[in-house]
Amino acid sequence: MSVEAAGRFRFATTALLSMFLLLFVAPAGAQRVASDTQDPGQVMDEDFAAFFAKWTSEPRYGSPLVDHLPVVSGIPMPKDVLGHHIGATETLTYYEDILRYYRALAEATPRVQIESIGSSDEGRDMVVVWVSSEENLAGLEHNRENLARIADPRGLSEAEVQRVLNTTTPNYHLIGGLHSGETGAPEALMEMVYRLATETSPFITRIRDNVIVSVTPVADPDGRDRIVDWFYSGLERQAELDAEKAAKEEAAKDSVAAEAEALEGDTVAAEAGALEGDSLTAEEEEEEARPPRRPSVPYWGTYVLHDNNRDINLSQVIVRALTDWYFTAFPPIMHDLHESGTLLYTYSGGPPQNPNLDPVLFGELSWFSNWEMTQMAKWNMPGVYTHSFMDAWSPGYLGSVVYNHNGLMRMYETQSPRDIDVDSLRAARLEEEASEDEEGEEGQEEEEADSVSLFRSTQHLGAPTGRGGSQEREWYRGHPVPDDAVQTFTRRNNVNYIQTGVLSALQLTAMAPRTVLENFYIKSRNSIKEGRDEPPFGYVIPLQRDMTRVTRLLEVIRAQGIEVGRLNEEIELEEGTFPEGSYLIKLDQPYGRLAKNLLEVQYYPDPDLRTYDDSGWTMGYAFNAEVEEIGDPSVLEAETTLVDVAGFEGEVKGDGSAGLAVAHLGSTNMVTFRYRLRELDMRITEESFTSEDQDFPPGSYLVTGTSEEMARAQTEVLDLGLTASALEELPEVRSHDGDAPRIAIYSEWQRTQEMGWYRHAFDQFEIPFDLIYKERVAEGSLGSQYDVILMAAQNVNRDAVLAEPADRPEPYQQSEKYRYLGMYGSTPDLTGGFGEEGVEAFEEFLEGGGTLVTTAQAVSFPIEFGFARTVYTERPEDVRAQKPLVQAVISNMDHPVFYGFADSIYPMKYGQGPVAFRVGVADEDRVLARYVGGEESVLSGLMDGAENIAGKAFAVDSRPAHNGGGRVLMFANNPMYRWQNHGEFNLVFNSILNWNDAPKKEEEK
Ligand SMILES: [Zn+2]
Repeated sequence: MSVEAAGRFRFATTALLSMFLLLFVAPAGAQRVASDTQDPGQVMDEDFAAFFAKWTSEPRYGSPLVDHLPVVSGIPMPKDVLGHHIGATETLTYYEDILRYYRALAEATPRVQIESIGSSDEGRDMVVVWVSSEENLAGLEHNRENLARIADPRGLSEAEVQRVLNTTTPNYHLIGGLHSGETGAPEALMEMVYRLATETSPFITRIRDNVIVSVTPVADPDGRDRIVDWFYSGLERQAELDAEKAAKEEAAKDSVAAEAEALEGDTVAAEAGALEGDSLTAEEEEEEARPPRRPSVPYWGTYVLHDNNRDINLSQVIVRALTDWYFTAFPPIMHDLHESGTLLYTYSGGPPQNPNLDPVLFGELSWFSNWEMTQMAKWNMPGVYTHSFMDAWSPGYLGSVVYNHNGLMRMYETQSPRDIDVDSLRAARLEEEASEDEEGEEGQEEEEADSVSLFRSTQHLGAPTGRGGSQEREWYRGHPVPDDAVQTFTRRNNVNYIQTGVLSALQLTAMAPRTVLENFYIKSRNSIKEGRDEPPFGYVIPLQRDMTRVTRLLEVIRAQGIEVGRLNEEIELEEGTFPEGSYLIKLDQPYGRLAKNLLEVQYYPDPDLRTYDDSGWTMGYAFNAEVEEIGDPSVLEAETTLVDVAGFEGEVKGDGSAGLAVAHLGSTNMVTFRYRLRELDMRITEESFTSEDQDFPPGSYLVTGTSEEMARAQTEVLDLGLTASALEELPEVRSHDGDAPRIAIYSEWQRTQEMGWYRHAFDQFEIPFDLIYKERVAEGSLGSQYDVILMAAQNVNRDAVLAEPADRPEPYQQSEKYRYLGMYGSTPDLTGGFGEEGVEAFEEFLEGGGTLVTTAQAVSFPIEFGFARTVYTERPEDVRAQKPLVQAVISNMDHPVFYGFADSIYPMKYGQGPVAFRVGVADEDRVLARYVGGEESVLSGLMDGAENIAGKAFAVDSRPAHNGGGRVLMFANNPMYRWQNHGEFNLVFNSILNWNDAPKKEEEK
């Protein structure tokens, strides 16, 4: 769940093996505890048993739940379809093969069904696989209806509730492969589904009879295929390196004289270097033994990597598919399987806990995780623990969909596997069993370093909820992690852990199915009751200046299953009078607490507590939209009409034919309008005017053209929810050409995620762009192709720009073998920067009048290469913030960047790496906006030390940028953060639309 695990594949080397220090006692006796885990009458696969014994590094890394696999005539086990057992070393399964297996299984047994739930960005079929008894699956549709009634029990009498609870089977949903670099779960789930469908042990039979299990085999199927390609190409690369090394060692054996002879003639320098094996220093030899870490694969899915689990507004296709499916099935439990912990962390909830989540949930979390820890302790499995980094504050994780909706979210972080040679491992163990040598300690140190890097994303925050990755015995970890457990954790170990944990959780569910359902009902009922009994009772979203951002906000609310009504008539409340047509969200509904969670201010409970991710997400602030919290209980009586889609049609007033004025009222759709009508002439006004009682503030468009073009423009105004007037005559106001620039988004080959959110937003808003990399930059002549280049949220600093390519190229290219590499860009070498050549290309681009827009860390580029005049970054001291929403103040309201903003103070998302600008006196008037600062300016979430950002600049228009030409717009904040801060998107869009236009006043000075 946490850090990027792509490219983290480890390859066994003899050097590594020699480090293993191994003392263990095989706990054979422990396995007899569960006498019901096998049916003596069922035939077990001997080949599987041998495979299991070989590839489970030690017996205690397996369990009696998974050490056998039944053979059932006519029903394929994974090996029958895939050609290998699950957990085979150096083996990962492509998505199409995963589907092929499940389809073969569903074909063969009525205990397995497959349901399509949508399509991924790249068109892969997304599915849910069901497994349960034949009888349970025959009644699946009816059971889903029952679960829907428990999820929304309004209108049911107590007797009816009891009847529904008594006749419903709980549905336990599992999610694998959300994070592509965490590869184990999609493998383990295949075997587990087979096991659940076929095994006749009392243990499995009870689960099959009492639980309906459903599975998302791979939540990000596009990323899965890319990571499998990357994995296999990495193995291939490793084989090449090994061969080279072997050849080098062979050559080193020959005499130096013989080498010299052999090298005469057409000697290649590289060969000479490769032959110097016998003159390597000890340090160099160590370097040789450990080749540099391979870069990560640049992409998983189309836009984001780990952030598919931070998508609070449900924007990504795969996130939406699963969320939409949720409302057709209402599983009371969803369990998201990740792979960034040491052996097995089972999420138990931790502070800070969001008060909108039901108290019952916090009992359930420990109930399940402690059960799993207990069971796995019985099998003597080391390193299973609760109470680590993950808290319960943000509602923005994918699995949150279930606890946001009164169910139970569960989550694992399992140990990522290693491909090791188990035969050599066992031989090495025998040799070294008796003595501890220094190499062993080194191995331990290496492991400690590994744990630190795995948990870096929370360790540096001083995660208060436990010490993830720690190895000692703790009150929340009965069996500690042995020294060598991580390095020797085979793929089969990984499968054993995931499967044993999950089967234990299913066992508990099967033992208490009614309790699980009853809890689900109680939590749903509590949510409705809370909205009826305690303020706030509702949220009103009045009709306001820009309804398009309101529409997007309401789309998210509706996607969360929250009921939204429109007032049938004006209402008077303590908070004020709201006209007919205003939107109202009443909180006495099953998802009232979620609505409150999303719309209220987040008061962070304790500044000493850290949270894993976001601390403040109040939607009204993030969208810069007016949302009224209502404490007047009479709002619950207001008559409303529920709305399904909150679409809002635009308006064209008047019927003049001189031109069309489109008001810039802050809509983010203004940029879409411009690009949809790219070939039309538009001017952008610099002064306000009025027509047909409509105010047209600076930044509004004046569109002229043929009557047919005007008709098209009017159609788009309506479609995009904009406000326009068909003018009798054009107003006499200052204006500039609203030419639509040609855009490139520059990307580095690594850390593409933050930037991926920009690509996603540009696609959503239909802004055409080229995605360019160092290769295109180094070619030069950027101005011949682009007017605006966006560098967003990537660290394009001096070191990155001037980095030399690695000795050995690292290609990211499509081939017949690796079909999914080379997508979203392709390169023969991921390493190295665009170099001086590229810097010169940017100089030329700016001199020629180009505009560079930089955000977040990317502001380093103009600053470090002299395109930012007297602007430098500065890190405010003693500020502790976790992405809160704070107030910004606009310094120059006339500047095009702030066209459409109604007020000079507006809410902004404060980044994780707090950066501001220090600006020289000469450039003071180029500052566009500053942080307000001070405690009062913190609107939502955690910020300590807010007084230290008071008045600091974060937006600057550096113009002219180089040799009297060009422009660099710099935003130290991140104005397009995870499809979350829609209220700030126009900083980027306005920069684009007015790329070569400054307010006239400034030029006249
Ligand atoms: Zn993960």
